[in-house]
Amino acid sequence: MDFDFTEKEEAFRKDVRAWLEANVPDDLRGKAFASSRADVDEVRRLRAWQKTMWEAGYVGMSWPKEFGGRGAPLTEQIILFQEMARAESPQFVNRGGLSMLGPTLMKYGTPAQQTRHLQKVLTADELWCQGFSEPNAGSDLANLQTRGVLDGEHFVINGQKVWTSMAHVADWCFLLVRTNPDAPRHKGISFLLVDMKTPGITIRPLRQLTGEAEFNEVFFDNVRVARDNLVGTLHEGWAVAITTLAYERDLLTFIRHIALRNALHRFVRLVKERRRGGDPLVRQKVAALWIGEQALQMNAYRSLTKILRGGEPGPEGSTSKLFWSQLDSDLALAATEVIGPYAQIAEGSEWAPDDGQWEFYELLARASGIRAGTTEILKNILGERVLGLPKD
Ligand SMILES: Cc1cc2nc3c(=O)[nH]c(=O)nc-3n(C[C@H](O)[C@H](O)[C@H](O)COP(=O)(O)OP(=O)(O)OC[C@H]3O[C@@H](n4cnc5c(N)ncnc54)[C@H](O)[C@@H]3O)c2cc1C
Repeated sequence: MDFDFTEKEEAFRKDVRAWLEANVPDDLRGKAFASSRADVDEVRRLRAWQKTMWEAGYVGMSWPKEFGGRGAPLTEQIILFQEMARAESPQFVNRGGLSMLGPTLMKYGTPAQQTRHLQKVLTADELWCQGFSEPNAGSDLANLQTRGVLDGEHFVINGQKVWTSMAHVADWCFLLVRTNPDAPRHKGISFLLVDMKTPGITIRPLRQLTGEAEFNEVFFDNVRVARDNLVGTLHEGWAVAITTLAYERDLLTFIRHIALRNALHRFVRLVKERRRGGDPLVRQKVAALWIGEQALQMNAYRSLTKILRGGEPGPEGSTSKLFWSQLDSDLALAATEVIGPYAQIAEGSEWAPDDGQWEFYELLARASGIRAGTTEILKNILGERVLGLPKD
């Protein structure tokens, strides 16, 4: 692989850089590695920012033109992410829509579903949440119990989801329900698109370690969903969900990379400001984190190349997620050690370094090894499906 960019690509970089410098809103710049998705007002601003980026042609760059993207080459997508990190731009707020639902609908959606939803995913006019996990179905997702019963041209849904990020601000949810309870576990599941304003849906926020309530419990009480909103074949939603999860581990990690790279740059700045650059232990940490970030980027290039050449993310995408979560936690901890006790001070206090973002980041990083597949589950996947070891 040739890592040098061509003149044309460097010209593109120059354009993006200038555009970002002129357009990243001041109230979002620098919130890059710890922007809130619980605060409704901040979500509104993040939404407007994604729309501005879309209008400038920078969202869904690698999506085919027929789906509202630009059909741009992989290199331009990579340059865009690098420049977003450099400009301290927040990540795209509609992450679930862009990195999970979008690719899933392109593969399994009907033309009507694609026309109805894809463009609004790009513009963030419709935010999406992921309704997969349940109280007894997290790592063991195939155990899900929320029922979807066909009644004429509608599914009637009853049950409960949990840990649903952004459900409180989402317009739509991609939901897994059990449509055939008599079939083997993986065979009776269907994948539905659900309007969050449908009567019978109750959302209860769950407070997290960060103090925020970014995820929720979602209850379904006789919620009627038109059959047209079934994605893929009835009872065969597991295959659709596996595609969604693979994209989550792969593309989402790539998008989150913007935040990680940002945090790393901030960390280096912090070390300099606090005159800790002469400390050999701190220097070693900076070097190890920097090398880790570069390795993660190279691995992401490999996965993205495969996807954009028409392939699909495979179990090897789990390496990116696994490594990213480790790096994210290491970085948060290293920053906490450099800052010392002040790292615990939250936003709102004049004593909080970087307006409390490090405190928020350190607490949020605890979730990195849980969301999108826990560390243990990813190791199982790698052991069994990549290395060919016996099943656990
Ligand atoms: C910040 C955050 C946001 C989230 N957002 C969403 C969302 O938007 N939508 C959604 O659907 N879900 C979401 N989740 C849920 C997430 O997908 C689950 O938490 C995750 O899949 C783990 O499931 P669980 O919490 O039920 O834990 P469990 O599956 O009960 O696991 C508990 C522990 O046991 C270990 N374990 C379980 N099975 C095995 C095994 N076979 N071998 C070895 N160890 C095992 C796990 O690694 C873990 O350490 C989110 C989670 C977090 C933390």
